[in-house]
Amino acid sequence: MTEPLFGKVALIGIGLIGSSIAINIRDRGLAGEVAISTRSRETLERAEELRLGTSYHREASDAVRDADLVILSIPVGASGAVTREIASALKPGAIVSDVGSVKGSVIEQMLPHLPAGVHFIPAHPLAGTEQSGPDAGFLELFENRWSILTPVSDTDPEAVARLTAFWEALGSKVEVMTPEHHDLVLAIVSHVPHLIAYNIVGTAADLETVTQSEVVKFSASGFRDFTRIAASDPTMWRDVFLHNRDAVLEMLARFSEDLATLQRAIRWGDGDALHALFTRTRAIRRSIVEAGQDTAAPNFGRQPPRKDPWNEPGEPKA
Ligand code: NAP
Repeated sequence: MTEPLFGKVALIGIGLIGSSIAINIRDRGLAGEVAISTRSRETLERAEELRLGTSYHREASDAVRDADLVILSIPVGASGAVTREIASALKPGAIVSDVGSVKGSVIEQMLPHLPAGVHFIPAHPLAGTEQSGPDAGFLELFENRWSILTPVSDTDPEAVARLTAFWEALGSKVEVMTPEHHDLVLAIVSHVPHLIAYNIVGTAADLETVTQSEVVKFSASGFRDFTRIAASDPTMWRDVFLHNRDAVLEMLARFSEDLATLQRAIRWGDGDALHALFTRTRAIRRSIVEAGQDTAAPNFGRQPPRKDPWNEPGEPKA
């Protein structure tokens, strides 16, 4: 248990990210009160069953009243409408933040609604899974992961330091950068890879010469890892692409050019070019493991399914 960093925190949206934040606040004692609000009655009731907060509200504006820290954990396309709803109930001096995967658009949507006297510090934890909803959250999600803060100009450094301390208490490493730089970096490390995964899984599913059952049966050969990414939340990712349009299109143009070069190398049998690229990319994988951002264990650390001969169907039971 740490000293509470905030008296009251309001969490608006309680899916994977919101519930992981809530579990951290509860289990590490980071706030006196946690007010939760979400759009649907079902999700709010589930959050209460999971004991994610100390109070539960259908109206986001009721949750943010007297809160010292307000975090929106909702699809980026909903940021403007929800900020409009809560703006007049915000406490002067409160820190208002979010976790959206795009920063420029979120700032454009939120900033015009926010009253003077609140500290607006957009944020993005680079941590997630393909799961969604309040049951998906877990304590270790942010452990050793980066959280990026993109404060707007003239933000009080003391408020930035408080939000930094909050994310560090959740196990994150924190970096501050401009929203434009964030959106460009994330386009290449996250958004374009997701688009590639959505595309390759879609293409495989559409192929007439390969049946659906073969796609599933032989999926271990590389395709399976794409299907995990392509199972990510459709609403969240629709919004990411619509709201980080320019950076994604710029990175996709670079990607297409490089893909054409690879295509050419294959067509002309240029094995040296292929080998040189694959050697470079292998080194990048090694540096990601060395930086502690993934495991070097074979098969991404996946355990083979456990065989229990005593409980196999048709086997004699002990
Ligand atoms: P999630 O599990 O799908 O939860 C979404 C939450 O937002 C739910 O509480 C949902 O409410 C609410 N919501 C959905 N549509 C809404 C709308 N139109 N207006 C108001 N509330 C709405 O999503 P998540 O994975 O936690 O993602 C939340 C944010 O975190 C997104 O901006 C995403 O870009 C960012 N992020 C995600 C990841 C990741 O890997 N998942 C990683 C880093 C950042 P109901 O259930 O009540 O409808």
